Amino acid sequence: MRLNTQEVKNLQLRLQKMVSHNRQLQSELDRELTHETVDSSRETTVDPLSSEINDLRGHQGDDEVTLGSLRIEQDMDREIQSALDRIEQGTYGICEHCSKPISKRRLNALPYARRCLHCEAAENFVRA
Ligand SMILES: [Zn+2]
Repeated sequence: MRLNTQEVKNLQLRLQKMVSHNRQLQSELDRELTHETVDSSRETTVDPLSSEINDLRGHQGDDEVTLGSLRIEQDMDREIQSALDRIEQGTYGICEHCSKPISKRRLNALPYARRCLHCEAAENFVRA
């Protein structure tokens, strides 16, 4: 089942938020690494996207959600950019290995997934 325009738009919006969220995390990390004073106000602000990303990472026991969530931060940033490119090119939501549509459930859990669950699982198996 292909995503409709509105669904792609929603996912695109989420991806763009994830990019800016990642940038923010990265700059906070940079500040901490350079031993600058960390603004204590950030402890009190609850970022809904932050909890969403934590949700994505914390879903244990749901293979369809967790399989792609094991990447490291930099990879994630690159994957998100690549997903945004695919939206521009109209190839978003199509598995790059088997060319079948990636399930909506998987894309909702992992908006930057580039492979369907089947191919992702096969690749993880080969690597392990
Ligand atoms: Zn596939």
